[in-house]
Amino acid sequence: MSQYAGLAGAGGNAALCDLRSDTVTRPDAGMMQAMAAAELGDDVFGEDPSVNRLEAVLAERLGKDAALFLPTGTMSNLAGLLAHCQRGEEIITGAGYHVHAYEAAGASVLGGIALCPVPVRADGALDPGVVAGAVKADDSHLAISRLLSLENTHNGLAVPLADMSAAAEAGRAAGLSVHLDGARFFNAITALGCAETDLAGLTDTVSVCLSKGLGTPAGSALVGPADLIARARRWRKMLGGGMRQAGVLAAAGLYALEHNTARLAEDHARAEELAGVLRGLGAGEVSQATNMVFFTPVDGRNDALRAHLAAKGVVIGGGSTGAIRMVLHRDADDSALAQAVQALRRFYG
Ligand SMILES: *Cc1c(COP(=O)(O)O)cnc(C)c1O
Repeated sequence: MSQYAGLAGAGGNAALCDLRSDTVTRPDAGMMQAMAAAELGDDVFGEDPSVNRLEAVLAERLGKDAALFLPTGTMSNLAGLLAHCQRGEEIITGAGYHVHAYEAAGASVLGGIALCPVPVRADGALDPGVVAGAVKADDSHLAISRLLSLENTHNGLAVPLADMSAAAEAGRAAGLSVHLDGARFFNAITALGCAETDLAGLTDTVSVCLSKGLGTPAGSALVGPADLIARARRWRKMLGGGMRQAGVLAAAGLYALEHNTARLAEDHARAEELAGVLRGLGAGEVSQATNMVFFTPVDGRNDALRAHLAAKGVVIGGGSTGAIRMVLHRDADDSALAQAVQALRRFYG
């Protein structure tokens, strides 16, 4: 079941505390003002000053040549993968990583690119030995290994630079290029306490989302070397992602990069607090990393818990069994968290 399903009567504006995902964040007054004031042009002609500024800012911040603004993280990854790989080539990536698990095999469907999934370690990293072992020999029976696609954060886990680097080096030693799905790149930076260039410097291309914890209504970017970004630009057009006066969204992105990256630490602190409360209740297994909390109720009453919380304006995702994911974000402030905590205590108290 989708994490967004089965929430009739609780979703939308009525929810006091929506913990399904950080994608539910809405633009605040400052962001709306920035969007309303955005200088606009036709971005397919390269003439939208706000998009051009956002791309320049991201390229500069991540220490790369160029950036490309795209409507979604999925399209950003896809345009990147298509720019890196030709038909008959393959991408080595984590089996549970978004690129393999949740992007409808777009690279295979649209690019004739094979996806070679490898196991993800419990810490969210790929083992360098596993990466090296997955690289195919030059043999006409086999796909041509071309790209290693990493992810950070993965299920909230911020993969340390040393582990990222070890996996990337294993790929590079075998001649692979390296992509980072950094949908939550800035959460990773916050948790690792490193510079944006430290993480981005480990891979050739990076995809970042502006619409999750950063709070814009839509928008992602692919950042990397000029030649790859130029190829990705053609793919973006072909995929239908060439937007015209996209500066209204880019202005939100610029605002978010200025105002909403440093505050991600608050989301991480609230996630830690929520995890502490859940552990204290002794009602199931709890794990937490960055802005995500995973809770597996020991009594298996997931649906009853979800209904109880929904009645109190607290919305959670997940299916009828297994782990429930709760994601902290800018629109879940201290009073929203208190609401969630009170509702949880009442259910288990
Ligand atoms: C959300 C997400 C994406 C895709 O972003 P959309 O904007 O929803 O298409 C890609 N990778 C990861 C790890 C994500 O969490």
